[in-house]
Amino acid sequence: MLLSKYYLPTKRDNPSEAQIASHRLMLRAGMIYQTASGIYSWLPLGTNVMRKIEQIVREEQDAAGAHEVILPTIQPLELWAEGGRPDAMGRETLRMTDRHEREMLYAPTAEEVITDVFRNTVVSYKQLPQMLYQINWKFRDEIRPRFGVMRGREFLMKDCYSFDMDKDSAIISYQKMMKAYLKTFKRMGLSAVPIKADTGAIGGDLSHEFQILAHTGESEIFYDSHLEELILDEEIKVEELLGIYAAADEMHDAANCPVPKHRLKSARGIEIGHIFYLGTKYSKAMNVKVMDANNQQVIPHMGCYGIGVSRLVAAVIEASHDEKGIIWPEAVAPFKVGIINLKQGDAECDSQCLKLYETLQERNIEVLYDDRKERAGVKFADMDLIGLPWQIVVGPKTIAEGKAELKYRKTGVVKTLDLAEILKQF
Ligand code: ATP
Ligand code: MG
Repeated sequence: MLLSKYYLPTKRDNPSEAQIASHRLMLRAGMIYQTASGIYSWLPLGTNVMRKIEQIVREEQDAAGAHEVILPTIQPLELWAEGGRPDAMGRETLRMTDRHEREMLYAPTAEEVITDVFRNTVVSYKQLPQMLYQINWKFRDEIRPRFGVMRGREFLMKDCYSFDMDKDSAIISYQKMMKAYLKTFKRMGLSAVPIKADTGAIGGDLSHEFQILAHTGESEIFYDSHLEELILDEEIKVEELLGIYAAADEMHDAANCPVPKHRLKSARGIEIGHIFYLGTKYSKAMNVKVMDANNQQVIPHMGCYGIGVSRLVAAVIEASHDEKGIIWPEAVAPFKVGIINLKQGDAECDSQCLKLYETLQERNIEVLYDDRKERAGVKFADMDLIGLPWQIVVGPKTIAEGKAELKYRKTGVVKTLDLAEILKQF
């Protein structure tokens, strides 16, 4: 991508409305634009990163055996009443009436809709277990939308639903999803902690939240310090993770906590995902029946599993930035390499930059070439702000010797190398 042709409205000054780093940086890097309170337009750079995160989520859901669907964002209230939530999560849900006076709502979640699909399309145990997921927009009229896309009113969520013949099998689905979640977050460069959580408005009796530790997090969590080693381990040990103590504030009982004091830690966390074993809460209410091997009608056991895709964009930034800007982990970086031409208009600089740009593109490396007629200081600041993992800096002095600077954003280490040597990195 040529920066002169791209749409990247960066800002030099810190927006006064932003209280946390990710919100500030997303606005300054021209990733998002606030259209209304808690409602954002995603600009090209933001959209690029969100699509990368979405794709990692998708690949790990597929690998866990779930199938992608697209459910409606506008749902009839009727279904919610049937499922046992006639007030549809109360004032958090945006309701509307269609021209036939039918009460509708904008999906805050989709248990009732998927259960309705399932009850009318599945008849036999042979079709189970089944996991269906979507990556789609949700709306929740949060009382206090804040921190940018971290707590928006409209947000992108991956929601998956599992259907099993009995509880044992449902717990296996639950554990499969738990493993998929840990892999998903690890691929994004995040160490997510699974913690026992309240089942809240969704219902059910087993639930884990996935939190990343960050001092700007909205929730307080308590955990056994052994957990820190376990989440850094390359191998994902679900059994051990389930056995170790970690609890959200409202679930933590200080007086009866099984962890010895010296091992108990507390920290702030950002919730990036939430999984629930639902039992037969919705399947029973909505009269779902599946025929078992003995021709008996059985009520299936369900689970539901959410990931905050748009929140993750901000969470990754909270976990990885410095005073100059964002530091993208490679897996979610909008471009892998940025080329800075220090003297646009200089024949040698221009032609060498273009050559680097074309070579990287031929190798299918995503590259952003800053070919604007701007001062070097502006180009450096913008490139650090948008946080691409690698920067190649081409200036008249070095290029005369066939060299350029290669900078690794994460460490700030700069090396002056032959162009051929630089290309070998990619
Ligand atoms: P929270 O406690 O943060 O409000 P929740 O328990 O209401 O979250 P779930 O219903 O479990 O959230 O939704 C699944 C995921 O969707 C959450 O783990 C979170 O990552 C994301 N999410 C929920 N609400 C919002 C929001 N208002 N803005 C952005 N992401 C959200
Ligand atoms: Mg909520």
